[in-house]
Amino acid sequence: MREAPPRHRLVPLGGTMDGPLARGRFGDYGGRYVPESLAEACREVDEAFREAWADPGFRAALVRLLAVHAGRPTPLTPAERMSEALGVRLYLKREDLTHTGSHKINNVLGQALLAVRMGRRRLIAETGAGQHGVATATAAALLGLEATVFMGERDIERQALNVFRMRMLGAEVVPVTTGSRTLKDATSEAMRHWVGATADSHYCVGSVIGPDPYPWMVREFQRVIGEEARGQCAAELRTGVPDYVVACVGGGSNAAGTFAGFADTSARLVGVEAEGGAGAARGRLGVLHGCRSLFLQDGDGQIVQAHSIAAGLDYPGVGPEHAHLRDLGRARYVTVTDEEAAEAAVRLARAEGIVPALESAHALAWVIGAARGGELPAGSTVLMTLSGRGDKDVSTLKELL
Ligand SMILES: *Cc1c(COP(=O)(O)O)cnc(C)c1O
Repeated sequence: MREAPPRHRLVPLGGTMDGPLARGRFGDYGGRYVPESLAEACREVDEAFREAWADPGFRAALVRLLAVHAGRPTPLTPAERMSEALGVRLYLKREDLTHTGSHKINNVLGQALLAVRMGRRRLIAETGAGQHGVATATAAALLGLEATVFMGERDIERQALNVFRMRMLGAEVVPVTTGSRTLKDATSEAMRHWVGATADSHYCVGSVIGPDPYPWMVREFQRVIGEEARGQCAAELRTGVPDYVVACVGGGSNAAGTFAGFADTSARLVGVEAEGGAGAARGRLGVLHGCRSLFLQDGDGQIVQAHSIAAGLDYPGVGPEHAHLRDLGRARYVTVTDEEAAEAAVRLARAEGIVPALESAHALAWVIGAARGGELPAGSTVLMTLSGRGDKDVSTLKELL
């Protein structure tokens, strides 16, 4: 048997997973690569967020909304039958049990409260599969704001249920007909639209991407996942801290929020990307959507379209803080194929009675493969964030049964 990793060793991170470094940088990554009109709007968001985050009244209002509306705290579920089969001790942080069915609501409620504090009357958002759009429409309805959601025409065709939910909640869904007519184009279009609407609208970014302050602001709003899990692990595990902390990575918000709770411990952090959307594992330095990070590119530096069975992982890049964590060696980024993820989803359903989102199933597929291959030593404790529930994926999964 391999030697157990040292416990509770403090890892010097130079401010990472805390604030950003100067000028919104995470090492070589991050920044604010936007036109001057948006740079001013980003400065306003930055200032308002720092003030709000230091205000106990704002924090208390958010904690209350997360409790009474979103259903926090979410449980930590020991996956008993799965653990026995794998020879490790697997615990699931259940973001699938939040209102609207994924971790997206944590960030959106925070940004919606911030928008109200800033005197904005409307939220602008981009969405791929529609999960972030639905969360944004939900928060807008709850707080009496308007919502305009940009969505690629192809995604609108593929995600009819979420389009209906957004409209039911009173949001305007704007079809994007440029480029590949998917998430990357919807994000570009939302940013373009914000240029002319900064005075009365807040741009509600859905992951730890985009110009400063979004990557670290969104991580702070998702930190609740990691902090709750840290406390739950302290109560549940003999050692207090799991050996491994695992989460799927699209832009990287559920992983960033989870990692933030364990960055200062001995836990090994593992981010799992889709084979066809592996920004952290295989991307190159570039600038997209206002931020310098790792993106999938062709020989000419053009951004390559991502492909994944999980719409939420269908982004060609990764948030700047993940790129930095990778360089520091503090987190590892690995990939999983569509087939492995789909298989893991079915396996979790049948072993634990939980149908996971295909995004979350990527994280599980890595755990299964690593336990089988001996990379996870027998008896290891593993905390995995189950970022969402699988209802949205039924039509995809149906074909695989
Ligand atoms: C959007 C989404 C993801 C990917 O986004 P991150 O910012 O990487 O967390 C993962 N899981 C679910 C269920 C999602 O809806």
